[in-house]
Amino acid sequence: MSRRIVIFDTTLRDGEQSPGASLSEDQKLAIAHQLAALGVDIIEAGFPISSPEDFRAVTRVAQEVHGPVIAGLSRTRKEDIQSCYDAVKHAERHRIHTFVGTSNIHIEKKLRKTKDQVFEMAVEAVRFARSLCDDVEFSAEDALRADFDYLCRVVEAVIAAGATTVNIPDTVGYTTPWEMERTIAQLFELVPNIDRAVISTHCHNDLGLASANSLAAVRGGAGQVECTINGIGERAGNCSLEEVVMTLRTRQDYFDIETGINTPQIMKASRMVSNFTGHSVQPNKAIVGANAFAHEAGIHQHGMIMDRQTYEIMKPEDIGLTESVLTLGRRSGRHGLRQRLTDLGYDLTDAQLDEAYKRFVTIADRKKEVYDEDLELLMRDMIGAQAGMWSLQRFQVTSGSVEAEGGAVTIPVAAVELKRGEKPMTYASTGNGPVHAIYTAIDHIVKGKKLRLVDYQLRSVSVGEDAIGEAIVRISDGEIETWGKAASTDVLEASAKAYINAINRLMVLHQRAKNGAAEHM
Ligand code: MN
Repeated sequence: MSRRIVIFDTTLRDGEQSPGASLSEDQKLAIAHQLAALGVDIIEAGFPISSPEDFRAVTRVAQEVHGPVIAGLSRTRKEDIQSCYDAVKHAERHRIHTFVGTSNIHIEKKLRKTKDQVFEMAVEAVRFARSLCDDVEFSAEDALRADFDYLCRVVEAVIAAGATTVNIPDTVGYTTPWEMERTIAQLFELVPNIDRAVISTHCHNDLGLASANSLAAVRGGAGQVECTINGIGERAGNCSLEEVVMTLRTRQDYFDIETGINTPQIMKASRMVSNFTGHSVQPNKAIVGANAFAHEAGIHQHGMIMDRQTYEIMKPEDIGLTESVLTLGRRSGRHGLRQRLTDLGYDLTDAQLDEAYKRFVTIADRKKEVYDEDLELLMRDMIGAQAGMWSLQRFQVTSGSVEAEGGAVTIPVAAVELKRGEKPMTYASTGNGPVHAIYTAIDHIVKGKKLRLVDYQLRSVSVGEDAIGEAIVRISDGEIETWGKAASTDVLEASAKAYINAINRLMVLHQRAKNGAAEHM
């Protein structure tokens, strides 16, 4: 009989630590519900002591999301562990995940302790966590660079102290598949009580090996893989859930290992995470990239027509990729909209449906056909709109040739009206192009610190001649760099809204920074 491994998703904890990927509480909850539909065994919902917002988000996930075990991260300090427990305890099944660095460099340079002191910290933390909760995971941070004998001693001691899962993370993405498989296999040989815990792996993708290393750990005997949707996470990211799950499924003949993942929910999870974090998926990304199932070369297309299996090792429907069918038009009613949004993973209250329908009618007036991609953008805009934030009321732009023979040129001018609270504010400005003119006017109204535009991108995100354009901007005020994203059938409107979205996010991040920053694993 094939072995079943545990899928531990950390999209909401490690994934949210991606630079610029902060999620609102409602977005975290929506992702957690989707992870439950996807069938992950464990959701790591956050790092409760890191901020009051994170504590609240983990608490709500524990209260409202049913099915998976809900876990929270904590350092080895008692108050961290207690705070983690207080947030996760509402879930029917909950887990405390505590960690400490075990490599010499982490022990000496980061923790400034001796090996014996760290050993005691690990054992004490696990013992205290077990006094609160039966399900305790311990992570030996940076384990793949740790002294192996020391790692064996730590693993044995934390299992003796009650750890039910022991994670061997490649925190810095340094290992290779061969080394990982051997490390796990040797732990199984040398740690006498190892069969009393599940051994886990948590790989980072700094060398592009996170999925390969995780699969190697499974071959070595690991029973849990920690991963994120789309592979998001610190630096180059984490092991990607969809890659590991689809490899095990596609090569069942080789691995003889199963997961509990309901794979047709993968695409929905991927789109939701990419929409909410603003991190687009690269087109050639394995499994969930836009081109992953596209066949371009004529000879491949010919083969596909004869038999799909000539060039296709997985079926698109296995990951929930259905053709982007024309779904709705102007005459579609509220009921049709609700049905389609439910299919896309959005459960709306009646008030939210009213708001969504208003926005839908506006799009349907401008576009003949409304596609799934349009609806996803609509929902993202709606969830993104919050009280106390700037919003665009209206704008107008005059623009034309900015370089012409003979020297006669247009001076781009933009008039912008923004609103925050009750009173609308208007300003007009010139610029060296229409977008520059709009941004200069917005800067004047917002009157914050001087903003630097780090990056500006424009792309088409839906199908057809009347497609929606999406603008993605990155801005920095010298202290914090963040992003904004918006979509519209008018690219100038998308550009203005994306900039305002980034300014709003910057305000939220400054608020958060005041409440104390998280430590990262
Ligand atoms: Mn990590």
